[in-house]
Amino acid sequence: MSAGARGLRGHILISHTHWDHIQGIPFFAPLFVPGNEWDIYGPKGLGQSLREALAGQMQYTYFPVTLDQCGAKIRYHDLVEGTFDIDDIKVSTHYLNHPALTFGYRLEADGVAVVYASDHEPHSRMLATGHGEITGQDLRHAEFVNRADLLIHDAQFTAEEYPAKIGWGHSTVEYVVKLSKYAEVKRVALTHHDPLRDDDAIDRLLASIRARLRENASSLDVFAAVEGQVVEVAPSHEKGSACRAGEFQAQTPIEPALAESSVLLGIVDTKMAAALSEVIRAEGIHVEFFSDLDEARKLIAKDRPSLAILEHDPPRIDGMETCRAIRQQDNDYEHQLPVVMVASQEDQAPGAAAGVTDWLIKPFTGAYARTKIRAWVLRTACQWMRGLIPEDEERRLARPPVHVQQRRRAGARARGSRPMPQKGTEKRRSLENVISTDKSALLWMYCREIAPFETPTFSKKVGELIARATSTPPQKREISASKLGH
Ligand SMILES: [Zn+2]
Ligand SMILES: [Zn+2]
Repeated sequence: MSAGARGLRGHILISHTHWDHIQGIPFFAPLFVPGNEWDIYGPKGLGQSLREALAGQMQYTYFPVTLDQCGAKIRYHDLVEGTFDIDDIKVSTHYLNHPALTFGYRLEADGVAVVYASDHEPHSRMLATGHGEITGQDLRHAEFVNRADLLIHDAQFTAEEYPAKIGWGHSTVEYVVKLSKYAEVKRVALTHHDPLRDDDAIDRLLASIRARLRENASSLDVFAAVEGQVVEVAPSHEKGSACRAGEFQAQTPIEPALAESSVLLGIVDTKMAAALSEVIRAEGIHVEFFSDLDEARKLIAKDRPSLAILEHDPPRIDGMETCRAIRQQDNDYEHQLPVVMVASQEDQAPGAAAGVTDWLIKPFTGAYARTKIRAWVLRTACQWMRGLIPEDEERRLARPPVHVQQRRRAGARARGSRPMPQKGTEKRRSLENVISTDKSALLWMYCREIAPFETPTFSKKVGELIARATSTPPQKREISASKLGH
C-alpha cells in the first residue's frame, strides 16, 4: 500500500470472530482500494454467515463505512473441517476448544508446515497444568499440529494462573510446551499473551521455559510472538508427516445434511437438561430426550441424530453404561454417532473403551456447550456429505443434488448394508410413506417435528400433517437412472 501498489490480491484466514481477532478488519486499508481482491475464510456457523458476522461490527452505530462499501472485491468462504488449496498452499482446518466456533489452520507448501492454533484450551484440565496424558480430543489436536516446522499457539496463561481461568478457552505455556514436544514440533511461537503481562514478564516466562528445556536436553525452540515479527521457516522434516482431518473439502456446502439435524439428550439433571436444550434450540436444532435405553435406541434408529449428549455422575447415573449400550446396537451408523459425556471430570481410558467421543466437563458455560454442539453437528453433517460425494469431484459439482443422493443409495445397496435415510428430499419421501401406513409412526412424527412444543407451531404442524396424511397418496419419487441425464 505504501508503495502505491494496486490490484493487490490476498487471503485472510480468520480463526473465529471474537472481537480481538477481527477488530483490525475495518482498519485494513487494502480492503478499501478498488481493484484489490481479497478472500476471507472462517468457520461456518449454523445460522450467521462469516460475512454477516464481520459486517456486524461495521454497522452504522459502530463504524462510518459498511463492509459492503469497501472498494475491494471481497469473497467470503464459510469453511467446515477439512482441506482446501490457496494457490500451491494446502490449508487444513481443525476445530479448536474455545467458547466460539474456532479453527486452527495448518498450511503446507514446499515441504514446510506452519500451524496457527489460537484460541484454544486443552480439552483435559489436567493437561492445562502441564501434566497428564495426551488422549482423546487432545490427541486429535496433537495430530493436527504434528511435526509442524512452526507452531503459532495460544499461550495466554501459566499453569499457576489456570485454575482461575478454567473455561476461558485459552492454553497455558506449560501445555503448549508439552504438546510441542509430544508432536515433535520444531519451533513454537507463544502468542495471545495475557494483556496483563508486560514484555518483561513475558521475557522472564520465556527464560524459565528455556532453562527447563535445556535441563531436559530438548531441541524445541520456543519464542514469544512479537508484533511485526517476520519468521523464516526452512523444511526440517521428511515429507508425508502431515495429519489432517481427512481429505474432506473444507468448502463443501453441507446445508442438505444440516437441514434435519437433531441432538439426543440423556440428561437426568433437569436443570442441566433445560439449559442444554435451550442452547441447542438457539442453534436451530431439534432436541430429543430419552429416559431409558429402549427409547434411545428407537430414536437413534429412526431419527439419526447428529450427536448424543449423556450424563455421567456415578454412582447416581452411569453414563458409560448407556454409551456402551448405544455402541453395541448392531448398526453401522452408531460408529459415527458422536457421544459427548457430561461429567465433573474426564475418565479418559474407561470413556474411550465405552465409546465416548468427547467430554463436556462441569461446570461449563452456555457458550462452551453451544460451541461443542455446533462443532459435532457440523462434523456429522460433513460425514453425511462425505457419504454422498462420489470420488469424481468435478463431475459431482456439475450434478444436481438428487443425482448425488441416488448414487449414494445405489452404493449402499451394493455394499449390502441398508440405505441410510437421507436428509432433504429423500427423507421427506420416506416420511410421506410413514404417514400413510403407520399410525404409531405418525405419532412419532408429531413428536419429532414439533419438538419445541410451541403452541402456534404445534397446532400448525399437526394441522399440516393431518391434512397431508388424509389427502396425499404416497408419491413415487424413485428416479430411474435414465432420467438423470447421464
Ligand atoms: Zn476468542
Ligand atoms: Zn482471542
